[in-house]
Amino acid sequence: MLINFAFGIFLSLFAGFIFFISVSTSVQGRRSIEALSGCQCPACGAIYELQVARNARENFLARCGEARRAQPHMKLNFGHRWPVVCSYCGKRSSFDFYANKLG
Ligand SMILES: [Zn+2]
Repeated sequence: MLINFAFGIFLSLFAGFIFFISVSTSVQGRRSIEALSGCQCPACGAIYELQVARNARENFLARCGEARRAQPHMKLNFGHRWPVVCSYCGKRSSFDFYANKLG
């Protein structure tokens, strides 16, 4: 009985921890997308806008997923920069999603 109760507490705490991690990751991703969408292209000065920022994050996550599937036994470090391409002039830049600024 006591073991079941302790196991229930453990499961509740674990579920809460997983929920917290998923929410905080989602909030951080949204903040970075908002920050990038307001940045100016260093070449032409155009604002990147929301769709370009979303594409930059999604492309980064897709490439990370592909690399993990290709090398499932390796510990990979993908850095903390999203490659971003200006939709007006095509200039490639990188966005530091830890510092939330172009780098
Ligand atoms: Zn540009």
